[in-house]
Amino acid sequence: MIDTHCHLEDLLAFYPLEQVLSCAKQAGVGGLIAVGVAPSRWLAQKMAAQQARALGDAPRFSLGLAYGIHPWWADAVAPALGLAALARWLAQERADTLAVGEIGLDFAPNMPPMARQMALFEGQVALAVAQALPVILHERKSADVLLKVIRQTAGLRGVVHGFVGSRQQAEAFIAQGFYLGVGAAITHPRATRLRAMLAALPVDYLLLESDAPNQPGARHKNAPNEPAFIGEQLAVLAEIRGDEPDALGRQLDANAIALFGCGLAQSVNHGPS
Ligand SMILES: [Zn+2]
Repeated sequence: MIDTHCHLEDLLAFYPLEQVLSCAKQAGVGGLIAVGVAPSRWLAQKMAAQQARALGDAPRFSLGLAYGIHPWWADAVAPALGLAALARWLAQERADTLAVGEIGLDFAPNMPPMARQMALFEGQVALAVAQALPVILHERKSADVLLKVIRQTAGLRGVVHGFVGSRQQAEAFIAQGFYLGVGAAITHPRATRLRAMLAALPVDYLLLESDAPNQPGARHKNAPNEPAFIGEQLAVLAEIRGDEPDALGRQLDANAIALFGCGLAQSVNHGPS
């Protein structure tokens, strides 16, 4: 299994990296993508990733990196400065970058002003296209605007992470070639609408992700989420789709590799190690 969305440096506030990785590997996680949120955090993210690789026992474990500015940071980061910082960082780190993310739009109440979010988002999309990198999108009450930008941007590929929108929106993203991230929300028994939707979507557009330490699943409500728990999501997804879990896991890994490239490919493993 590959956890395609994890905030690695945030997890270190809760657990030592050794523990995070050994639990993940024991649970059958063979790959992980650490996503970025702000220029002030990229270095800590990179250091955590390097440490994780050293501990990860390659090729049995692979770690990919994505860098970007999350819309929640649009207040703290002036768009022009943030975009210049990302361009510089990518120039330096391009060879070790699988995607631009986490970027996107959050139109929930009390979020940074829309115009600032848009400037930051559109600039990062342009950087991703120029660097031929896929994007990892944060979507909250913003699916229609994201879809508009995607339709207007030739060559843009990516994933809407932790997708919990409507079936109509899901199909619109898939029609544009976008993947949808299946997060721990699926483990909550009351998520019947989400489950019905994910059971009906084409499997080759789904990715597995934790968003750790955020969004803990049903069995971990009072604890930080971890990459080690994505198998619980795979089990629910397999059950609602009537699929065999190992085969479904291999398909989701293949989807991740199709989107993010073969940097993840060598080290994918399945089942407890
Ligand atoms: Zn995230």
